[in-house]
Amino acid sequence: MTVAEQIKSTTKTGFSFELLPPLKGNSIDKVFNTIEQLKEFNPLYINITSHRDEMQYKDTANGLYERRVIRKRPGTVAVAASIQHSYGIKVVPHIICSGFTKSETEYALIDLNFLGIHDVLLLRGDNSNKARFASTSEESNNYALDLVNQVNELNAGQFLDGTLLDAFDTPFSYGVAGYPEKHEEAPNMESDLYWLKQKVDAGAEYIVTQMFFDNSKYFEFVNRARAMGITVPIVPGLKPVTLMNQLTVLPKIFHVDIPEDFAKEIRKCKNNDEVKQVGVEWCIHQAKELIQHNVPILHFYTMMATASTRKVAEAIY
Ligand code: FAD
Repeated sequence: MTVAEQIKSTTKTGFSFELLPPLKGNSIDKVFNTIEQLKEFNPLYINITSHRDEMQYKDTANGLYERRVIRKRPGTVAVAASIQHSYGIKVVPHIICSGFTKSETEYALIDLNFLGIHDVLLLRGDNSNKARFASTSEESNNYALDLVNQVNELNAGQFLDGTLLDAFDTPFSYGVAGYPEKHEEAPNMESDLYWLKQKVDAGAEYIVTQMFFDNSKYFEFVNRARAMGITVPIVPGLKPVTLMNQLTVLPKIFHVDIPEDFAKEIRKCKNNDEVKQVGVEWCIHQAKELIQHNVPILHFYTMMATASTRKVAEAIY
């Protein structure tokens, strides 16, 4: 069964979470440690993020800058395979456009096919100014929609070099990202939803949302998406807040609001242990309301929040 089929057939709200490949030089044990803490809640699948390389500039003795290309978190495909084979849990590696040529993407997909992994989440990736390739490079996909089209062609047996082979026995099944508070670059929600619908019409079988801390934003987003004719499941993404500085860091990085009631509670905390407690309580409150609305899955962003995610899961599953 594909992840999309699992999402569509759940009779009660399921559990999934996202992991980052460990920083270069670290061991897979970091990933396994997170899974050990969360596996008793029967995750339907685990997402593994993907990360582009970055430019770093270093002062040199002669007064010039030295440019270095650094990829801090390689290994998405290997981590996904390792999890699936060690735990037998479905995995959803992320495939991103930025920082990767279409050929590199094709090779990653061929590797995944060999490994028996056919569920992926297709994303543009962060378009940072640290880019190795300009986002307009003909060699790269510019938008998630371009990536969707590349995967569709591969599913039909059409490779980039023009060879037409037998299609893979199992085609790739994929989801895409959606933004209850609008993607940061979209001029307005209508335009963002228009492009989201293009991704769904092209073949995306479900949508996973950016994190949000105000459920009304999610409900409104779902209503607007349904009104546009988007009928696929929309999986809500939740993140337990764990650090005081996330009050400003999360809005800055992810372009999401923190409701004032929640912000007030965080500001009252004397240390991060108290923030974690408040973050767990807020997340439980969000999760319970979403479950009442019969969402198919609650998807957790676990970065720096594994213990908190566990506490939330204990309270709701
Ligand atoms: P797109 O769908 O390409 O949209 C990007 C912007 O362009 C939007 O404003 C959209 O309205 C607009 N747009 C879309 N298509 C077109 C078009 N054809 N022409 C003109 N405008 C268009 N980032 C990572 O680097 N690695 C990850 O593993 C990762 N995982 C994520 C998981 C989830 C669930 C989410 C929500 C985000 C994740 N991100 C990840 C971040 C994501 O890559 C960024 O938010 C990125 O800026 C946008 O990705 P997208 O796939 O939504 O882009």
